[in-house]
Formats: sequence, structure tokens, C-alpha cells
Amino acid sequence: QAVSPVPPDARPRLTVLSGPSGVGKSTVVAHLRKAHPEVWLSVSATTRKPRPGERHGVQYFFVEDEEFDKLIANGELLEWAEFAGNRYGTPRRAVLDRLEAGEPVLLEIDLQGARLVRTSMPEAQLVFLAPPSWEELVRRLTGRGTESPEVIERRLAAARIELAAESEFDTTLINTSVEDVSAELLALMRVV
Ligand code: 5GP
Repeated sequence: QAVSPVPPDARPRLTVLSGPSGVGKSTVVAHLRKAHPEVWLSVSATTRKPRPGERHGVQYFFVEDEEFDKLIANGELLEWAEFAGNRYGTPRRAVLDRLEAGEPVLLEIDLQGARLVRTSMPEAQLVFLAPPSWEELVRRLTGRGTESPEVIERRLAAARIELAAESEFDTTLINTSVEDVSAELLALMRVV
């Protein structure tokens, strides 16, 4: 386990929640924000097409490839990564503004992005969300019902590799229940 660069009594300002696809990161974050809307969550840009019910500017900023190229070229992304055939990135300005205002900031991003944040912002607190078991992760990835078999296969392959990255993180939370994990995450963020 990596040693946290954040002293235990300091208030971590930037928290990164990462983990394998399908582990339930976005469910945890949605639950947390319902109880604590004051926790600011970065909205990422992505080239992925919206799933049913997803709205531009809420879950993601859905952009075309050319627009994503521009965001990269203009240095507007704090980090970005390609995941299962789509690109995802964190808009830099909004995050830095919140941090400068002293507010806790939460990023929910993939593992490659978490590594990039570790390098560019070493004071960030990296939290790994782990599934209770591999079988449970397969069940969740397969059960979403919105993705094609090929996409599920790609996500499973990515998840198998991603599980091994746990040791790079400051803290691991096991997703046994969404209530428990979001309470633990709030405590790590010093919100409660
Ligand atoms: P999904 O397509 O299921 O919404 O997201 C796929 C993966 O991309 C998830 O692991 C999610 O955490 C990650 N992701 C979402 N936004 C970002 C981002 O801005 N940067 C990075 N690196 N990953 C992201």
C-alpha cells in the first residue's frame, strides 16, 4: 500500500474515486451527492454517446471527437484517458476554481486518469473502489443491459487489469453497500 502524501489531520481538498468499470463508482457518487449536494463533483467531457436518461452537462459533457481534440490541444483538461473505445477527460478550470475556493472536490475517473492526477497533483487523495468479489463485478457489468457483448467483453478485460492497481492507491473501499461506502468516502473527504 502506497503511503498517503496527505497528513492524517490535514483536510484533503481533492479526492479521486477510481476503480474497475462496473464496480459502482457512479452509484456511490450519486448516493453521496443526494445526501450532500454541497460536495462538488467534476463533470467530465466524453466522446461516448449518451445512455438513455443521461443529459448533457449533468452526467457528462457529450462532445464530438473534434471538440475533444480541441480541449486537449488548448490544455483545458486536467487529465484524460481512452477507455473502451471512448475518450474521457476532466475539465481543468472548474476543478482548480473550486480548489482555490477551498471546497472539497470529487473526481470519479478511471484508473489511467487517477494515475495522471497523482503525478500532476500529488496532494490528491486516491481512493480505490473494489468489488466484493470478481463474480459480483462480472454480474454487475453483464447486468447493466445497455451495452453490446463486445463492449462488455472489453470492459471485463479492462477490469481484470484494473483490479491489480489497488496497491497504488491511498485507500481501498470495498463496495459491499452503497450507504456504507458513501459514508466512508464522506469521512475521507472530511465532509462529515
Ligand atoms: P462510463 O462510460 O461507464 O460512464 O465510464 C467509463 C469509465 O470512464 C469509468 O471508469 C469512469 O470512471 C471513467 N471516467 C469518467 N469520466 C472520466 C474522466 O474525466 N477521466 C477519466 N480518466 N476517466 C473518466
